Amino acid sequence: MTLAERAQREKTLADAARVVDVCRTCGIGSTRTNAVYGEGNPLAEVMCVGEGPGETEDRTGRPFVGRAGELLEKMLGAIGLAREDVFICNTVKCRPTLDNGHRLANRAPTPDEMKNCRPYLDAQIDIIRPRVILALGAPAAKSFMGERFSITKQRGQWFDGPLGIPIIATFHPAYILRQTGGAMTEVKRLVYADLKAIRARLDEPPPAPPAAVEQASLFE
Ligand code: URA
Repeated sequence: MTLAERAQREKTLADAARVVDVCRTCGIGSTRTNAVYGEGNPLAEVMCVGEGPGETEDRTGRPFVGRAGELLEKMLGAIGLAREDVFICNTVKCRPTLDNGHRLANRAPTPDEMKNCRPYLDAQIDIIRPRVILALGAPAAKSFMGERFSITKQRGQWFDGPLGIPIIATFHPAYILRQTGGAMTEVKRLVYADLKAIRARLDEPPPAPPAAVEQASLFE
């Protein structure tokens, strides 16, 4: 890809982020501080999709910058990827909150909020066309694989994602952080296995682009 093409892709993402900035389709569009469009390498081979922005993300406008983000970076590092190598985003771009009388607490996005936000996520996938999508946690995984998806039984398995892009799910970093003792060790072991499956897939030669296949057939 040329520098000009890379710049064009960055511009397309920036334009899409501006549309998200003014979106008020859901109630959370009005309660959030900043929309969290997502960030990372416009040429990323891996796209990480989390659930939704939390408090720190809402304040900064950046995905996965709290403790879960620190752990996500360590997880990526375990398979030789830096945060700057991947693209990180969420199923919803605004922080879902619950007013408990004293403060706004984080909550899981509703199915309607995920549905409303889906075109933005689909557009991100279409712009970046990663080789692999990593769904972080059950809500993100279900948004791709369907409500019946079981994170405990089906994490680490490959599925066909949007545009035929292979998708795999693993436990959410925030879930890992909530474990203690032996449970934490076991969850980390499973997550590492899932990450290694991604490494193995990236280490395979990328599929030949259609034009190359066509040209090769000229010499058959
Ligand atoms: N958890 C998520 O699912 N997404 C973030 O951006 C941060 C924490």
